[in-house]
Amino acid sequence: MLQRSNAFGSKTVLVAGGAGFLGSHLCDALLELGHRVVCVDSFLTGSFENIAPLQNHPCFSVVRHDICEPLPATIALDQIYNLACPASPPRYQADPIHTMMTSVAGTTNLLKLARQHDATFLMASTSEIYGDPEQHPQDESYLGHVNCTGPRACYDEGKRAAEALCFDSLRSGAIDARVVRIFNTYGPRMQPDDGRIVSNLIVQALRGEPLTIFGNGQQTRSFCYVSDLVEGLMRLMNIDPNPGVPINLGNPGEFTIAELAEMVLARVPTRSKIVHRPLPADDPKRRRPDITRAKELLGWEPKVVLSEGLEHTVAWFRQQVRPLEAAAKR
Ligand code: NAD
Repeated sequence: MLQRSNAFGSKTVLVAGGAGFLGSHLCDALLELGHRVVCVDSFLTGSFENIAPLQNHPCFSVVRHDICEPLPATIALDQIYNLACPASPPRYQADPIHTMMTSVAGTTNLLKLARQHDATFLMASTSEIYGDPEQHPQDESYLGHVNCTGPRACYDEGKRAAEALCFDSLRSGAIDARVVRIFNTYGPRMQPDDGRIVSNLIVQALRGEPLTIFGNGQQTRSFCYVSDLVEGLMRLMNIDPNPGVPINLGNPGEFTIAELAEMVLARVPTRSKIVHRPLPADDPKRRRPDITRAKELLGWEPKVVLSEGLEHTVAWFRQQVRPLEAAAKR
């Protein structure tokens, strides 16, 4: 068995969902800090391209595995991040029961692993646990307004159950479990076709297609750049003692979807026009994190403003979309 934390403070860290958008950036950051990383992923929505640059890294390994099944024996672990779950509505609604089981059975399996290894556990929960909020902005004391029978329930209620599993494990004294509630995060490595608003608009603009806005575009969202989010995840994982409460991570800057579309159009020269489509069921009208707790307990707040983050994201998608277009013409 591998030694756990070595003399230089490097740890062995399991990242479930490590081949996904956020997970792959987290793997990068952990390796840069000198940790050993075991990426566990079913590749349901993640991709090998996201982790390809890490394949030959001596401290990186990948296990292809669905966390709904008990995990195979691994080397000794110090920390476990659970980011495994499809995050965009079309993806998590494609197999809603599996999405729910990923949060419930999958989190249970990872918590058992954390207990076996006495590893610190961090759960990536979501602002979606607030549902279509009646309180604005949302702080962590808000209990939410979720439709438990609607098409988003597999994700929202699954994450609520995962939070309950974490806090029961913590209360029992068995596991040092921590929970972050992530608000919309964007950046390079979002899948071009997975239906999230930032990637949708950028890809449509780059392809010269109409930019789709659902409803009148006056619904609001806050957008956190991926590097800020990863920093927040690592701060909560490593803070001592465990704050013992869920923590919102997100960028409190609030923009309407119409404003976001205009910002994309200002960065991508395109013939694209905006088209409006009906609002999907249970789509939240307003979403903005109250990050007072993250500031106070973690000393964390986002640094990257939307205009800057969009520049990086558009630049990355420009490289992705051209090859896709070329392949489509062949
Ligand atoms: P993503 O879809 O890019 O990544 C999820 C990863 O988990 C993928 O690599 C996927 O293959 C893997 N996965 C899914 N189900 C699995 C299973 N049963 N077993 C093993 N692997 C599985 O999504 P993301 O944006 O990187 O989100 C990561 C986490 O953060 C998710 O848990 C998501 O709910 C949460 N989150 C993300 C956002 C955001 O804006 N990106 C917002 C709130 C919460």
